[in-house]
Amino acid sequence: MQPAEAVPNLYHPNLMRIAGFADETPDVRTLKLQFADAGEARAFTGWRPGQFGQFTVFGAGESVFALANKPWHPNGGAEPPTIECTFRAIGKVTNALRALSTGQTVGFRGPYGNHFPLDDWRGKHLVYIGGGIGMAALRSAMLETLDRKAEFGEVLILNGARTVADMVYKEEMPSWQAVQGVRVVRCVDPGGEGEGWDGEVGLLPNVFEKLALDPADRIVVACGPPVMLHYLFLSLGKLGYRPEQVVTTLENKMKCGIGHCGRCYVGPFSVCRDGPVVTWAELNELPKDY
Ligand SMILES: Cc1cc2nc3c(=O)[nH]c(=O)nc-3n(C[C@H](O)[C@H](O)[C@H](O)COP(=O)(O)OP(=O)(O)OC[C@H]3O[C@@H](n4cnc5c(N)ncnc54)[C@H](O)[C@@H]3O)c2cc1C
Repeated sequence: MQPAEAVPNLYHPNLMRIAGFADETPDVRTLKLQFADAGEARAFTGWRPGQFGQFTVFGAGESVFALANKPWHPNGGAEPPTIECTFRAIGKVTNALRALSTGQTVGFRGPYGNHFPLDDWRGKHLVYIGGGIGMAALRSAMLETLDRKAEFGEVLILNGARTVADMVYKEEMPSWQAVQGVRVVRCVDPGGEGEGWDGEVGLLPNVFEKLALDPADRIVVACGPPVMLHYLFLSLGKLGYRPEQVVTTLENKMKCGIGHCGRCYVGPFSVCRDGPVVTWAELNELPKDY
């Protein structure tokens, strides 16, 4: 009798060692992860900006985070693959993850989901709008855009937070601004500005409206809390943007990440399999429970 063929386990995580971390805000941390096993590192084929992964804290569970650093490609050089994720400690898994430190091990499976179509945006002006931790889901595409800046027009990065203390990626924003043709605008909600704050004060959609950019040949890529997106879409409509020019990424609660369990469906749309990246035009076709 033939031995039964081993069925690959799609839920089996790679072991990743925490190579370092940076605290962005009191409750948001960016982790740098490297494969613990050299064979798994060699087999890794990289990811596209906008994709996500399932990260395991052993004994606590799995959480989904955006892959937040510039995409790593197998032909990209001698560096071993490093995956970064930026997460807010809000519950069981994320608090357990925050309790780990450099040298400890977590699980990773992915990359999953579709990606931002950067190649289709060549020659266009790009606007990245991140509200709070939403910036994490845009960072990979944004860093790739900065790397390939010559292929795009003007790039505007609008990083908004409730307060100065809540703003993510404070340390690296000067390096974004240093790229020619890139403008970085920081904004905090009214009352969130501290002494010496020299950025904008206002709700993110209002700050965007005040910038009065011409919508022609422009793509807006936005991620943030649903209420921010609601008002941002109203502003964009008022300014004359077409729904096809506006792209976002959904963060519905999900479980398997691979289209099997059905937890993340919005009508017929499986966020983990068909998304998470969607245009505003596509969102308009879905029931309003995203
Ligand atoms: C595609 C995708 C990408 C994501 N990327 C990031 C990221 O880059 N960084 C990041 O910090 N988070 C991200 N999230 C959200 C993240 O997955 C959850 O915050 C995390 O799983 C919470 O796990 P927990 O066990 O700590 O929280 P739990 O203990 O399960 O819940 C704590 C609280 O958070 C709420 N909550 C849990 N998940 C979500 C969610 N998806 N949306 C809204 N509320 C939620 C719960 O209702 C509860 O009130 C992403 C989610 C998706 C689907």
